[in-house]
Amino acid sequence: MIPLTEARSIVFSLCPPRPPVAIPVDLALGCVTAGPVVSAVPVPPFDNSAVDGYAVRAADVTTAPVVLADVDAVMAGSSTDRVLGDGEAIRIMTGAPLPEGTGAVSMIEDVEVLPGPGGTGDAIRVGRPLVAGENIRRAGDDIVVGQEVIVAGTRLTPAHLGVLVSIGVDQVEAVPRPRVGVLSTGDELTPLPDPLGPGGIRDSNRHMLLALVRQAGFQPVDLGVVPDDEERVAAVLQDGAGRCDALVTSGGVSVGDRDVVKATLDQLTEGAMRWMQIAIRPAKPFAFGVLGPGRVPVFGLPGNPVSALVSFELLAAPALRRMAGRQRIDRPVVRAVAASNLVRRPDGKVHFVRAVAGWTPEGSITVAPVPGQQSHQLHAAAVANALVVLPDGAGVAAGETVHVVLLDVEHLPGVAGIGELLGARDVSAA
Ligand code: AMP
Ligand code: MG
Repeated sequence: MIPLTEARSIVFSLCPPRPPVAIPVDLALGCVTAGPVVSAVPVPPFDNSAVDGYAVRAADVTTAPVVLADVDAVMAGSSTDRVLGDGEAIRIMTGAPLPEGTGAVSMIEDVEVLPGPGGTGDAIRVGRPLVAGENIRRAGDDIVVGQEVIVAGTRLTPAHLGVLVSIGVDQVEAVPRPRVGVLSTGDELTPLPDPLGPGGIRDSNRHMLLALVRQAGFQPVDLGVVPDDEERVAAVLQDGAGRCDALVTSGGVSVGDRDVVKATLDQLTEGAMRWMQIAIRPAKPFAFGVLGPGRVPVFGLPGNPVSALVSFELLAAPALRRMAGRQRIDRPVVRAVAASNLVRRPDGKVHFVRAVAGWTPEGSITVAPVPGQQSHQLHAAAVANALVVLPDGAGVAAGETVHVVLLDVEHLPGVAGIGELLGARDVSAA
């Protein structure tokens, strides 16, 4: 057996970051930028009003109330050539460019419209004094010309994409999300809706792995189910290597009679395939090789569903994140207090115990194993949101601290959302 760190180094050394390309902004979410992005323009592009109200000269509103003549109006997306004179105001909407001479903008809420000498609406009374610059957004006060708005190696968030468009950029040099082909191997695997024959089971791994690929932000490619037949596995692997950046298989990498992925990969890589017995539980067997001129990595995961899940999380997903240029390639690990005894026997392996991590009202994290820790018990793993890292030895007693890999940060029991924080009241009524 080899330690997990060694297995990961072997895999990572053959999964270098992919070259960046120009990616349209709307397809770039989660992609990692190749270089810095510098703005050639200011944002906002011009001085404008932060409120709906009236543009006024600063000297006219140092005291209030004051009556001013309403001489023009300017909306967002329009402009006016009218220059504000002494004693004048111009009605202005949020985002509209400031008329020349504007020193401040009075909010509409602080203004009373008066019947002017010639009828209604020709004059206003500003009820509150203003300081110069009040309610004005200056050109460049978000982004100045020459500012580095995105640094190299940024994983693009929705807000970054908005920033890019705000500076007039509609595509960005970034690492494209890897296309990841997923195939299942096994004579027993029966796709839905075909009826199960004797000894048949459902091909759950393929659907789980396609979803894991998608959840990690990559492009899943469904390569189907392949029986335990070397020629057919070879054909699908070669076809997949021609149209994907990486391949994930499940099944056929153990020490059984029909471990066809191991044999096929060995043959296709002319013996360069690495078959590993990793000192972890679950997911001990793992096969890895690179195929073809594109040196497309193949992650040969074990067939037991929980092993496939854990193997994907600990080996394939980090390697794929590396290929995608990510600096952070692993799920977050936190320290947690064991809520019950985590019993195990020494066996030379690190155990990854499926567990539920949750927050106490005091803000510390506790973790409890789910019942059903065998590698075929996927339902139990589905209930879990975390993996306890249980080092080799006799286990850990309740109350001791352990490291925990968080698999699902969206679902952390005990962690409130804004709705709970507000006392479950209707937020719109607040
Ligand atoms: P293997 O690694 O091929 O020896 O398979 C180990 C166990 O996992 C066997 O019980 C298989 O039936 C099961 N298995 C293999 N592939 C899948 C799959 N795609 N979905 C569900 N179970 C599978
Ligand atoms: Mg099999």
